[in-house]
Amino acid sequence: GRYQWEVDPEELILGQEIGSGQFGLVLEGSWRDLKVAVKMVREECMSDDEFKEEARIMMRLSHSKLVQLYGVCTQHSPICLVFEYMENGCLTDYLRERKGSLSQDILLGMCLDVSEGMAYLEMSNFIHRDLAARNCLVSKNNEVKVSDFGMTRFVLDDQYTSSQCSKFPVKWSAPEVIRYCKFSTKSDVWSFGVLMWEVYNEGRLPYENRTNAEVVDSLNAGLRLLKPRLAPDSVHLLMEWCWKEKPDDRPTFGLLFHELASLSDA
Ligand code: ADP
Repeated sequence: GRYQWEVDPEELILGQEIGSGQFGLVLEGSWRDLKVAVKMVREECMSDDEFKEEARIMMRLSHSKLVQLYGVCTQHSPICLVFEYMENGCLTDYLRERKGSLSQDILLGMCLDVSEGMAYLEMSNFIHRDLAARNCLVSKNNEVKVSDFGMTRFVLDDQYTSSQCSKFPVKWSAPEVIRYCKFSTKSDVWSFGVLMWEVYNEGRLPYENRTNAEVVDSLNAGLRLLKPRLAPDSVHLLMEWCWKEKPDDRPTFGLLFHELASLSDA
């Protein structure tokens, strides 16, 4: 049968390649007069059937600070995921390209945008599982939006999904995720603290010269990432709050959004 979130391949026009990721190529395209980004999903990279069920839930998630999934095209292989087009690409590259020229207002605004998108996911009881600057995208109007929410659950590559393995995002992961794969909104909050650190370091990689094993040891010893030079104390305090050992001691995204908004008014 045909799903209601199915995109008709006749209506989808594919253009140039704009990137490649975990699941395969990303192309620009258009669909019903909208500019879109199309992820071509290689079959061996994704558990399709589970994803098709989940796509329905993901399409219901709709917020100005989330990259919208418009639909999926499952008629042919590879299946395609059709997303809102984000002219300014991924946040990590955006930060690196503008290093030295981003004002305090802009850096804070980026964190505020992400916290707003995440507060919506929190309210929707949806766990992101892989929040990081590389999984946020920047619009034509320089708004930052959260992307790739929930997608790691469909990755078939073990190297990515087991915390013991090389591609697992240990440097963004809360201790309970590293130890027992216990994902929650509070583990997303930990990752958000690392994302704020990335923003205030203009796209630098966290723990640049350290292996995953070394990072785990230093977390276990109670150590944390250092205060970025550009971060005011008030912002650094929020990061440290996100990195509390116990998930319950970390703030909610609702609260983080509120706190960041009050800093941006000040
Ligand atoms: P994956 O989730 O499969 O790992 P990514 O989301 O990292 O793939 O996409 C790879 C690259 O494609 C990104 O770094 C970005 O440059 C580009 N891209 C992905 N989604 C979009 C989008 N919605 N709009 C514009 N560019 C995008």
